[in-house]
Amino acid sequence: MKSGSGMDDREYLPLSWLSQANYCLRRAALLMNECVWEENAETAKGRAEHENVHTRRVERRGTQLKLYEYTVFSDALGLVGKCDCIEAVRSEQGCVIPAANFPVQLYPIEYKHGSVREELSYQIQLCAQAMCLEEMFHTNISNGALFYISAHRRFEVLFTNELRRIVEKTAEELRSIRDAFCIPAAEYGPKCKKCSLKEYCMPKVKLTAQKYCEILAQEAKEVELQ
Ligand code: SF4
Repeated sequence: MKSGSGMDDREYLPLSWLSQANYCLRRAALLMNECVWEENAETAKGRAEHENVHTRRVERRGTQLKLYEYTVFSDALGLVGKCDCIEAVRSEQGCVIPAANFPVQLYPIEYKHGSVREELSYQIQLCAQAMCLEEMFHTNISNGALFYISAHRRFEVLFTNELRRIVEKTAEELRSIRDAFCIPAAEYGPKCKKCSLKEYCMPKVKLTAQKYCEILAQEAKEVELQ
């Protein structure tokens, strides 16, 4: 099956890796090279159709539906992933989806752990899901939400043009490191302290000996103050 884009032989990358790429492109590259990921348009679409038919959970309340664990993909972005939840509410300006026999407006929701915070990488992931849904169902989605489970709070996210451009740029960066199979050089920074790959990555190695010593001294000082 060939799509209009003619990109069916292309490997589809996991949408969730956009968050990793936004956090650190080197981290995303290290993860990609450690994992075996082979998903092209055929398998992505086949899997989406299969999973959405067989494992999708749909809750209905009148003209409102909630679709859980819904597989989405985009030819334009070359991504495949899952929406934790999509709210679908009856709207004459909405789109047609297989689960409803009336037009609906879609509203994706991504569940998150931890404290409520404005995290760009989360917003990128959510916006990418919306862009997949727009492409799949020929519709427009202006906003969605991050739902922080412990705090039981929603954080509304607007899918602005700026956020959409960041999604496209991040997807392109992810694609380029995948295609070139390269690992970008490490850039040591505050993000590295919490990075689970830091032992493997060794981000300080490329620093000069003097800079390395300065960082060690600074970290020792921070430990003393704790
Ligand atoms: S340790 Fe730092 S540079 Fe290395 S992968 Fe993690 S965040 Fe990126």
